[in-house]
Amino acid sequence: MKRMGRISDPRLLKVVQAIADRFGDVTVISGDRDFVPNGGAKESLHLLNEAADVSVAGKTPEQLFELLIAARQEIFGQETGAAFRWQIILHGPGTKTEGHHVHIGYVPPDHVFRRSRPFMGYVVEGLFKGKTYSAYTPYVAP
Ligand SMILES: [Zn+2]
Repeated sequence: MKRMGRISDPRLLKVVQAIADRFGDVTVISGDRDFVPNGGAKESLHLLNEAADVSVAGKTPEQLFELLIAARQEIFGQETGAAFRWQIILHGPGTKTEGHHVHIGYVPPDHVFRRSRPFMGYVVEGLFKGKTYSAYTPYVAP
């Protein structure tokens, strides 16, 4: 695992390790953050140290995203519906921050989002340049 970013939450680190074990060499592009990057979400889970942006060697972010859907229970556990607290975002090539990548975040059960809509599940954004959330497709975890 290559770490350009730090992951302090053991639960999140376990998930990233499971991705590495299953799909290959993981690069952690970004993890814990104490700042909001240009164009970044003000309520990003990175600020809670509950998110990691990752890539896997030899796989496109789209391929990784599909693999994470297919292996949902093996990677993220058996929780379903409202008990599924993970957010998995495919940031397409038009995304404003950190470039084309997959974001994985954990939403703590007691966490309150003040401004943004909380979501758990799978989302695609930034498929086209200059437009964020041009494709917003939440896949609600069954
Ligand atoms: Zn992220």
